[in-house]
Amino acid sequence: MKKTIYPKLFLGYLLFGILGFAAVSTFTTQCAYQYILEKEASQLYKEANLAASDYAVSYYSNNITLEDFEERLVLLNLYLDAEVWVVSTSGEILVNSSQKTDPDNIQSIEGFDLSDFGNRYYKTGSFYNRFEDERLSVYAPISINYRVNSYVFIHKPIATLHTYNNGFLEIAYATLGILFLCAFVLLAIFTFTIILPIKKITKAANQYASGHFENPVDVHTDDEIGYLAASLTYMANELNTLEEDQRKFVSNVSHDFRSPLTSIKGYIEAMQDGTIPPEFQEKYLNIILFETERLTKLTESLLELNNYGKRGVMLDITAFDINQMIKMTAQTFEGSCKTKRIFFELILTGQTLFARADMGKIQRVIYNLIDNAIKFSHPDSVITVETTVKNEKIFVSVKDRGIGIPKASLPKIWERFYKTDLSRGKDKKGTGLGLAIVKEIIQAHQENINVVSTEGVGTEFIFSLPLDHPEDE
Ligand code: ATP
Ligand code: MG
Repeated sequence: MKKTIYPKLFLGYLLFGILGFAAVSTFTTQCAYQYILEKEASQLYKEANLAASDYAVSYYSNNITLEDFEERLVLLNLYLDAEVWVVSTSGEILVNSSQKTDPDNIQSIEGFDLSDFGNRYYKTGSFYNRFEDERLSVYAPISINYRVNSYVFIHKPIATLHTYNNGFLEIAYATLGILFLCAFVLLAIFTFTIILPIKKITKAANQYASGHFENPVDVHTDDEIGYLAASLTYMANELNTLEEDQRKFVSNVSHDFRSPLTSIKGYIEAMQDGTIPPEFQEKYLNIILFETERLTKLTESLLELNNYGKRGVMLDITAFDINQMIKMTAQTFEGSCKTKRIFFELILTGQTLFARADMGKIQRVIYNLIDNAIKFSHPDSVITVETTVKNEKIFVSVKDRGIGIPKASLPKIWERFYKTDLSRGKDKKGTGLGLAIVKEIIQAHQENINVVSTEGVGTEFIFSLPLDHPEDE
């Protein structure tokens, strides 16, 4: 079973839930409690101050009776749900809202010391062991004639604060739950938009790796993953055609080698066993020679093409007279021209015309183009070779009045081993590699070659070359 990213994501999701829960149950709980405590303390402090400045001062100024004072504190007790005391500076409980005051039996708080409160006006705890439960105790001084006479204390049970806090925490947990659910939705979206497509892409890549390029990657989204899938499909297609080209190439090479070899073998055997009598042998030896030449040419062309196939063909760039080269090359074809009664018409620009290119290779181009022109020309026709200069480029054109190339074949003539059906009868020796070599040479020079042809009328090949500028040197 292969490891996938999914369990890690799911683990991350769970971890997010657990950490969220831990954060709410510790940090949020503590912060919320502290917040509620301070809020409540400040509220109680206001009440204590009110009681101290209002009822207590009225009582001490003898404006109201002790009963009235007590009654008001009891009401405050009910309202606040907290005990209200009046304590003297020495710690005697003068009035207590939860029990009737008995002047003869005044209770004293043991160890009462206001400095225990520090610089705050509230404190939590059992208030000098006066309460069994925990209380929030808040005080405010009662001042008579600018002197602190006693204190109002309000003691609120902490349990009520916890009730608030729990209510608040419920909201926090509910929010956490909603977030957890949102994260789940996110996880689901992530799964459908990223993980599943990546799985598909991986599967397709594995197929391609094992040599099966047929199926495209089944992801069609308009995002990075979609682009990745499209690139992969494109790559697979390219590899597929490359493989097919290679197969075709090998089968063509094999075929082109096999047919001459078979005929050579056949004739030699026939000569050996006497089927061909000695007086006829010369004719067949000539055929064998022809086939051997064909094989040699094929091997040479293949070796040459193999060199061009490698990256960065080494070009031996020099300046040379292209006009001169055309004249010389045309001359080498004199023999074959004579037999077919073909004439050359050379329309050359200037006395000399210097190009900067690899001389040997360009000669090969001109040779191949003229060779084709002669092979596919009708007898008694003219082949025109022309040089022109345009936009700092030399254009060389080789034009024949021959069989022409069918429109459908035009793009294919540059392929290795390609020969049009029209030409097969005219030229048995051809390998179909000549134009492939021409194209490689022109491309290595970063120049262009074009063909214009009409079936039954003729064909023209035009290629460009860089013009030489002697003053640049
Ligand atoms: P090779 O050049 O190896 O002797 P080839 O001439 O058949 O063989 P290419 O030069 O590559 O091969 O040409 C490929 C094919 O293009 C030819 O077989 C022919 O069908 C067609 N072709 C090329 N030049 C001409 C032309 N001038 N007129 C008509 N058809 C042509
Ligand atoms: Mg050729």
